[in-house]
Amino acid sequence: MRWKALLLDVDGTLVFRGKMIPGAGEALDGFRRRGLLLRFATNIDSRPPEGVRAQLVALGLDVRSGEVINPPLVALRLMQADPRVHWHCLVGPDLEDFLRPYASAGGQADRVLVGYCPRADYRALNEAFRQLVGGAELVALQKGRYFYAPDGVNLDTGALVAALEYAAGKQARVLGKPTREFFTACLEDLGLAPDEVAVVGDDPATDVAGARAVGAYAILVRTGKSASASIPARDMRTDEAARGLIPGGDGGPEAVCPDLVVESITDVLRLWVDGL
Ligand SMILES: [Mg+2]
Repeated sequence: MRWKALLLDVDGTLVFRGKMIPGAGEALDGFRRRGLLLRFATNIDSRPPEGVRAQLVALGLDVRSGEVINPPLVALRLMQADPRVHWHCLVGPDLEDFLRPYASAGGQADRVLVGYCPRADYRALNEAFRQLVGGAELVALQKGRYFYAPDGVNLDTGALVAALEYAAGKQARVLGKPTREFFTACLEDLGLAPDEVAVVGDDPATDVAGARAVGAYAILVRTGKSASASIPARDMRTDEAARGLIPGGDGGPEAVCPDLVVESITDVLRLWVDGL
């Protein structure tokens, strides 16, 4: 077996609509018993990594401290790298404490950070917009269009980012999946080279494209977003492309083609045991 670690997506790969995907717990235990390093590489941007971990532990998954990597963690590291930069943060309540030491107290900011933000009313968006017009750079935790929760499908951070991009005429720098920046941060955290790591996820546009961006092996699971019955037609097309059934797709065929497609995380363990 050539991999030393798995970068596991969370939503749609291990959990879906607030519940554990059947067999995910046993799969994690199996990976650990075989000595694989695990990192939970998720675009969840509503809470700090430890908050994501607590949620997963509450659902019965063995996720350990320091193993969750999400866009807020990448943002925190960026803020810590240069404390002179002033950040205006448009993020959710659970992130405010996490990022507070680095958030700007007022005045013109250098960067506007946008994440999942249920309080983003006109006033909050306009405040961010004015910072952008004043010269600030736009930084997005991630640019997802929608996500699934127990109550159904929900508008994701990308919609807020797109609104600000449109109004300010600026393109956001994105910290989360599928960017090279995010996956490079994951590899650096593991201290491994891309060919020592496999990415497992349900989303061709984020997980597979991200694995491709850094040259890691890409495994698509057909749960969550890529369970074809539950996704809008636009993603279906991307997903078909990912399976090599049609050419093209959002990121082009090379961007979204996984190395392997399996039904679920359980199959990843089974194939591993059988000598993938
Ligand atoms: Mg996912």
